[in-house]
Amino acid sequence: MSSSNKIIQQTTCDRRAFLRNLMLLSLSASPALAEAKTSSKPRIFHTRKVRETTSKLQIPGTRWKWIVAHHSAIKYGNAAIYGRTHLERGMENGLAYHFIIGNGINSGDGEIEIGPRWQKQLDGGHVHREDMNKVGIGICLVGNFEETRPTAKQVAALQELIDYLRGETWGKKLKFTVHKEVAPGRTLCPGRNFPLSKMHNLYGKSKLPKEV
Ligand SMILES: [Zn+2]
Repeated sequence: MSSSNKIIQQTTCDRRAFLRNLMLLSLSASPALAEAKTSSKPRIFHTRKVRETTSKLQIPGTRWKWIVAHHSAIKYGNAAIYGRTHLERGMENGLAYHFIIGNGINSGDGEIEIGPRWQKQLDGGHVHREDMNKVGIGICLVGNFEETRPTAKQVAALQELIDYLRGETWGKKLKFTVHKEVAPGRTLCPGRNFPLSKMHNLYGKSKLPKEV
């Protein structure tokens, strides 16, 4: 029996019960109504800093064409730690990725750290293909996803970041891929437990350009 049927039946026998039911119904309906009112606006949980920083940058619409997701292949680390490692490895611009998404160990769970290459709008250094480094935004999730899974907050942060970049900055022409698709046979990154098919379902799967 639907709740409206129930109410109609009760009005015939008990007016007080009817009024009580009506009150309960309107109480239980109000959160859903409130949600419906706000659902057109994006909910910002992880990307506040990214939005603030990016809105101040002058970025040509042709600057970026791909998002390339990675794992760090180690459970520890954050933007500063990886940045030092990459400098020591001789990368003059330091941190190879544009964004790091923390796992709660050395930065917040689902926290998005913005690398200097994003702030200066420099090419990435995260794949072996220089043509892809020039047009690929590198996003690295902290963790080794051959062994463990990304946290729910890391995946939520990744999606929120991609939605922001694709929805409000470059639109749907910004395509999604992961490291091992850029470098088949060279790497397992971002690991077997990265939600690859889920992400391709959400953002499509496009053919990579021929290596130049
Ligand atoms: Zn990688």
